[in-house]
Amino acid sequence: MGLDGERLIARLPAVRGRLEPEFKLADITWFRTGGPAEILFAPADEDDLAEFLAGLPGDVPVSVIGIASNLLVRDGGVPGVVVRLGRGFGAIAVEEGFRIRAGAAVPDVRVARFALDHGIAKLTFLRGIPGSIGGALRMNGGAYGRETRDVLVEAGAVDRKGNKRVLSNADMQFAYRHCGAPDDLIFTEALLAGEAGDAAEIEREMHDITTAREATQPVKSRTGGSTFKNPDGAKAWELIDKAGLRGFAVGRARVSEMHCNFLINEGGASAADLEELGETIRRRVMETSGVMLEWEIKRIGVPAGGGAAP
Ligand SMILES: Cc1cc2nc3c(=O)[nH]c(=O)nc-3n(C[C@H](O)[C@H](O)[C@H](O)COP(=O)(O)OP(=O)(O)OC[C@H]3O[C@@H](n4cnc5c(N)ncnc54)[C@H](O)[C@@H]3O)c2cc1C
Repeated sequence: MGLDGERLIARLPAVRGRLEPEFKLADITWFRTGGPAEILFAPADEDDLAEFLAGLPGDVPVSVIGIASNLLVRDGGVPGVVVRLGRGFGAIAVEEGFRIRAGAAVPDVRVARFALDHGIAKLTFLRGIPGSIGGALRMNGGAYGRETRDVLVEAGAVDRKGNKRVLSNADMQFAYRHCGAPDDLIFTEALLAGEAGDAAEIEREMHDITTAREATQPVKSRTGGSTFKNPDGAKAWELIDKAGLRGFAVGRARVSEMHCNFLINEGGASAADLEELGETIRRRVMETSGVMLEWEIKRIGVPAGGGAAP
């Protein structure tokens, strides 16, 4: 059955934020492709989110997206409610002990700059991740030798029933590009611990990260970042290169020439093209190296026509 946002909206609790039926997610995903959210919910603040979830009928699926920089939305769209945190989750402040409290909607890059402005070191790596704090928590985002688990003190969240929770670093059960906290949690903020630093040195590090990224990643393309996790003891891009797939394409979806672990929408690629390209890579790498790559990119929603996800 197809999506019917107008029908679903009538069953939803009243909110102070915005509810939009049939919201075109392709406008906001980095890949610039994929179907709509049946309903997009942008809560006004944490109370609005919690009250909405508490009153939401149990059969309505809920997903959450951040800046959609590690996300492939399938062409048939996402059934149920897609939560996207906005301005009400955009606060950022310094706390005692070189700590920074940031709302889940704050871009990682902004946290890195804010830390620089306050002479706080250790958070510079966030300059290399083009997502939000919510995404960094769920993905254990990391770059240049540091990841979210190295700096997280605690995270605020709301569960599917609308209960507010605070999770310690241990509660998050972080692993490489993975957070083992329950899937239904929507993270609302993070408390991050930096340390005293020298502003000139932090600025130099930021500059080096920016330069390195631009030289090695297709940061100006329609992409979803690293497609696959690096398997133990190997680099995903090397295995893909070894399989002869640099530049390989399915329709308008292509393996980046610059960085083989990035897929590019060259304009007009469907999510199905990108997913098929990814699955072809997995098959070929299995044949050439005996390794089954694991998707790092999160895939959500249903294929065109509303069938079951592959
Ligand atoms: C050019 C490029 C370079 C990149 N380089 C890096 C890199 O160096 N290191 C790295 O780690 N990543 C990198 N990425 C991937 C991506 O930026 C990170 O995974 C980032 O943390 C995703 O954040 P997001 O807000 O875009 O999340 P989304 O892509 O929107 O979502 C990713 C996952 O996080 C979940 N999520 C998002 N917000 C919340 C929330 N508030 N509560 C609960 N779950 C939530 C979503 O449900 C989904 O499962 C890169 C991506 C691109 C496009």
